[in-house]
Amino acid sequence: MKKLSVKDLSVKDKKVFVRVDFNVPMDETGKIKSDVRIRSALPTIEYIVKNKGIAILGSHLGKPKGKKDAKYSLRPVAQRLSELLKKPVLFAEDCVGETAEKVIREAEPGDVILLENLRFYAEEEKNDPNFARELARLADLYVNDAFGTAHRAHASTEGMAKLFPTPAAGFLMEKEISYLSRVLESPKSPFIAVIGGAKISDKLAVIKNLLTKVSDVLLGGGLIFNFYKAKGYEIGKSIFEPELLKAAKNLSQEKKIYLPEDVVIADRTDGQGRIEVVAPDKIPTNYIGLDIGPKTITRYKEILHTAKTIVWAGPMGMFEVFEFAQGTKAIALAIAQATENGATSVVGGGDTLSALEKFGLTNKVSHASTGGGACLEFLEGKILPGIAVLKDRQ
Ligand code: AMP
Repeated sequence: MKKLSVKDLSVKDKKVFVRVDFNVPMDETGKIKSDVRIRSALPTIEYIVKNKGIAILGSHLGKPKGKKDAKYSLRPVAQRLSELLKKPVLFAEDCVGETAEKVIREAEPGDVILLENLRFYAEEEKNDPNFARELARLADLYVNDAFGTAHRAHASTEGMAKLFPTPAAGFLMEKEISYLSRVLESPKSPFIAVIGGAKISDKLAVIKNLLTKVSDVLLGGGLIFNFYKAKGYEIGKSIFEPELLKAAKNLSQEKKIYLPEDVVIADRTDGQGRIEVVAPDKIPTNYIGLDIGPKTITRYKEILHTAKTIVWAGPMGMFEVFEFAQGTKAIALAIAQATENGATSVVGGGDTLSALEKFGLTNKVSHASTGGGACLEFLEGKILPGIAVLKDRQ
C-alpha cells in the first residue's frame, strides 16, 4: 500500500512538523564530519518552503540519555542547514513548550525552524503520550522523513503521528520505501543478495527472509567464519559467535547459499603483518580471516554480472584497512557495473554505505539506503512502526 506523501498535503500557511534524521557524525570539536543526512532531507524541506508552509524540523542527535547536554545540541546542524538551503534557519533552544512555541509563533510562511534535540527528553524514546501531545500541538500537519529511525516507536516517529489525521511520508522516506519494497515484493530475476559484515547475529534474519525471494545469497565478511566453524574447520583467531553455530550449520544446507572458496588471512589486523590467501579449511591457528580471496571475487563477479536485482548489506572484509578492502571494493564495482547494465541495486545496513562512499560509488547504485538498522529490519520483512503509522493512500 502506498503511503500518503507530503505532496498530497496542502502545506500553504500551515505549520508542518517534519521528523528528520539529522543524527550526523560529529568530531570532538562539534564539527560535522558528514552532512549526507542533512542533504538527504533537503527536497522535503525545500518543497515546504517553496509552497509557503512553515517547516518545523525535529531530530535526535547522539545519545544524550534524556538530559540536556550541549555536546549533543543541534545548533551546528542549524548552521549547516542554513548554508545548504541558502537561507536563515531559526533555531529553537527547546523542542517543546513556550521556547519552541514562541519561535513558531513568530515565524512566517516559507520559514524553516530547527528544534533542539528531541532526545534531551527521556519521554521521546519512551514514546510518552504526554510528550507526543506536546510535540503535536506545535504543528498542523505531520511528515516523517527520518527513515533511519522508522524502526523505533518513539514519540516523534510514532506517538505524535497518530494524533494527526493525515501523517505523511517525506520524499526521502518515500524513496526508501519505494526501493526496499520493490526489491522485496516484485524483484526481477535473477535476484542476488550479497550479505557480509562483522556479525551473523545482525544478518541472520535478513538472510532467512531473503532466502525466500532470491536466486542466490553470496556471503562474505566476518560472519562466514561462523559457517566454517560449524563445518568443523580450524578458523584461527577469526571472529565468530558460538551461540549461532547451529543456525549457521542449518543455513549452510541451503543450496542458494554461497560461501567463499578462498579467504585473505593475516597474523594482525593493521595490514602490517604477514598476509596470505588460503582455502577456508587451511587457516592456521594464529591467523585471522579478514577478506574474501581472489577466486571468490571472480566467482561472485560472474554471478553479479547476470543479476537483474541486487541487495547488498555488509562489507566483504575489514575494508577500513587497505590490505583487506579488495573484496569489498571488487563487489562494490561489480554491483555498480550490473546497475549500469540495467539491474536494480539497493545497498544498505550497517557500514556498507561507508564502504560505498570510500570507493566513490554511492551514486553508481540505484539506491543507497540512509537507514542502517531500519534498512536491515525492512529487509527482514518486519513492519516498521514509523512507516505503519503513516496514512495509506486511498
Ligand atoms: P556491519 O556493520 O555489521 O555491516 O559490519 C561492518 C564491519 O564488519 C566493518 O567495520 C568491517 O571491518 C567488519 N568486518 C568485515 N569483515 C570482517 C572480518 N573478516 N573480521 C572482522 N571484522 C570484519
